[in-house]
Amino acid sequence: MTHCAHLLIIGGSDAGISAALRAKELAPSTEVTILLSDNFPNFSICGLPFFLSGEVSDWRNLAHRTKDDITREGIQLLINHTATAIHPTEKAVIAVDTKGQKKHIHYDRLVIGTGAVSRRPSIQGIELPGVYFLRWMTDSFAVQKHLIEYNPQSVVIVGGGYIGLEMADALVLRGLRVTLVEHSATVLKTVDPSLGEMVSAELQSRGVAVATGISIEAIQEKGNQLLVIGSNGFEAIADMVLVAVGAKPSTQLAESAGVELGFGNAIRVNRKMETNIPDIYAAGDCVETWHRLLQKSIYLPLGTTAHKQGRTAGENAVGGNAEFAGSLGTQVVKVFELAIARTGLRDSEASEAGFDPMTIESEIWDHKVYYPGAHKLRIRVTGDRRSGPLLGAQMVGHYQGEVAKRIDIFATALFHQMEVDKLSDLDLSYTPPFSNPWDPVPMTAQTWSQRFSPYSYKGDT
Ligand SMILES: Cc1cc2nc3c(=O)[nH]c(=O)nc-3n(C[C@H](O)[C@H](O)[C@H](O)COP(=O)(O)OP(=O)(O)OC[C@H]3O[C@@H](n4cnc5c(N)ncnc54)[C@H](O)[C@@H]3O)c2cc1C
Repeated sequence: MTHCAHLLIIGGSDAGISAALRAKELAPSTEVTILLSDNFPNFSICGLPFFLSGEVSDWRNLAHRTKDDITREGIQLLINHTATAIHPTEKAVIAVDTKGQKKHIHYDRLVIGTGAVSRRPSIQGIELPGVYFLRWMTDSFAVQKHLIEYNPQSVVIVGGGYIGLEMADALVLRGLRVTLVEHSATVLKTVDPSLGEMVSAELQSRGVAVATGISIEAIQEKGNQLLVIGSNGFEAIADMVLVAVGAKPSTQLAESAGVELGFGNAIRVNRKMETNIPDIYAAGDCVETWHRLLQKSIYLPLGTTAHKQGRTAGENAVGGNAEFAGSLGTQVVKVFELAIARTGLRDSEASEAGFDPMTIESEIWDHKVYYPGAHKLRIRVTGDRRSGPLLGAQMVGHYQGEVAKRIDIFATALFHQMEVDKLSDLDLSYTPPFSNPWDPVPMTAQTWSQRFSPYSYKGDT
């Protein structure tokens, strides 16, 4: 391995920490420093909704590792330091601490893991007190403070993506009346509308008012409350507003150093996580992500991906030759009693990518119905009808119905480019409390094959 005397990493979250740990594992003599702008290295921001719901009682428990755990690995932490400039020719980064003190830090190799920031849609009044975002630990402290100090009774959540949905669940648990507003026709538009409708029904059954097809245009103060105004005459009054309309890559620092940007203004990287500038790598929510099925880069920010990309960058920064294997966009979210998951491509995405997709939807018990607690799983499987490879799967079921692990079976099959037919050959486990002799995964695959086996393909039908 090429020796790297000093590896500097900007960003102390999933990507940055993974890079540092991998580098230390492979090259213990390399000096590794992580620079991060806040005081919360290696915190699980994915857990913020569960802290705000009260299910996680102490925010400190959200730390994947403590500062001591990290420094014990021989990694230096420079907390509360914001990198303000990168000088690639001098191989130096300028960082400023909270008192304005500047540091000039030399590197041999640099990993940029600056993550993403919340999207701020152009809504008039979005800066008003009582309007919140959720990305950082400090965002969650602000929401928690508001909940404790003002005891709000109602909230409007703008955005029906996974963070908006998790927060609807969390704030119902905290006793608030929740209105969820989504501009698309169904919530959770990362799954097909038939599954999105199931999520809406679950929200409504818990008392959440769901308004779809609405674009929020303005927020105004109305006494002690906030009036939220949207398209189609939508109006709602609430004690607080949470805006959760997605994230965008944080790339200003990289761009001003001459680092090239790619898809969605994320940092352009190759599969070794190298940028266009020698000795500068990047990983996580600030970069574009190689999609294994599409065979091209897109923007797909996820914690799982950030860990893998960070590990790849860390390995290569100390002289390795690793390649990021690519994402399938596998994800899962829990909304009240439901778990909703997906992997790979949906029908419309597959068509757009030039496949000839065929999707079936089926409903199957998650375990033997004679054993208590059985629920139906709704599964959608997409395969290519010309040649039979699996292209994607989506699933909704009870949160104790192994939805996440079942979508992972599909994800593993996709990773290995299996044909839908071949899912029936997998040797999966079975006992009545957990499954059926034919698990719902191969059962759905069989339905797909019966309906549209490539071997019986007779042209367009
Ligand atoms: C509420 C919520 C729930 C989520 N749930 C899930 C989930 O269930 N599953 C999933 O896979 N993903 C989930 N995600 C997404 C996941 O958290 C991100 O994909 C992941 O955190 C990305 O890690 P990262 O290291 O790339 O960047 P980030 O976590 O964004 O971290 C960026 C780091 O860079 C530092 N930084 C930025 N700029 C500078 C600078 N100029 N100088 C110094 N330091 C800087 C920051 O302080 C931070 O340490 C969730 C995200 C949120 C907000």
